[in-house]
Amino acid sequence: QPITTDMETLTREVKKFATDKKLEIEMLQVREEYRREFLGNISHELKTPLFTVQGYISTLLDGAMDDKTIRKKYLKRADKGVERLIYIVEDLDMITKLESGDLNLEITEFDIVELIRNVFDLLEMKADKKKITLAFENEYIRPNFVRADKDRIQQVIENLIVNSIKYGKKGGVTEVAVVNLTKEKVLVRISDDGEGIEQQNIPRLFERFYRVNKSGSRAEGGSGLGLAIVKHIIEAHKEKIYVESEFGIGSEFSFTVEKAGVKEEKKEPKKIID
Ligand code: ADP
Repeated sequence: QPITTDMETLTREVKKFATDKKLEIEMLQVREEYRREFLGNISHELKTPLFTVQGYISTLLDGAMDDKTIRKKYLKRADKGVERLIYIVEDLDMITKLESGDLNLEITEFDIVELIRNVFDLLEMKADKKKITLAFENEYIRPNFVRADKDRIQQVIENLIVNSIKYGKKGGVTEVAVVNLTKEKVLVRISDDGEGIEQQNIPRLFERFYRVNKSGSRAEGGSGLGLAIVKHIIEAHKEKIYVESEFGIGSEFSFTVEKAGVKEEKKEPKKIID
């Protein structure tokens, strides 16, 4: 450390120190505010399903248990509530990891079309319940290999399709397309003909716990973290995500993914782990 002798430099350094300290304190205050808000949101999200589960259990203990049909019905509802709690806790775990940068991407080369088909199989029952058709269109030139973290991209596609079912109209269609965007990139597009989103709400969609229609979305069973998780995963890949929506008509979410080594196209795809 150089020893400061002249008054001017000393004053400047003291001032700088004070400004740095002030900034540091402000930063800490912002962080504290953020933490408080996050905790407040979490307890709020957990309360609803917890009270639901408790309600059914208390009613059962108060005598409803004696009736076989009611017993089964209430136990099923309590079970659904617990399932919902698990989803919320899993999403919280994921967002915490993503926000603290603790999530290491495992980059491999995989078939994006096969992945989408697997997600369709997983979500078929959910879509069926609303009589929603899951349609797939492949505009990408074969082979369909991309380079990304397969599990995380699966989660992105799952979250976006789940939303298109939740906010889609009964008897409607969710269409997933893989589009050839540039020499290096493909675009994965998920569109629905559901309720759509008003323009003024679009910029806030990817915020944690943001919902256009609070009670409606909670009743659909989400954690309010789905799109925040999607955004973090796409950004961790240094890729882009887009939204287009028309209120009352439908929404379209799309994101880019890197194509697997263009030069290696003809060879057997190799697993690459960074
Ligand atoms: P949630 O658990 O509430 O679904 P998300 O983060 O996944 O949380 O989505 C945030 C909000 O964005 C939703 O509550 C909903 O208002 C809106 N939204 C998301 N996807 C769609 C969609 N496909 N159509 C209309 N609104 C949507």
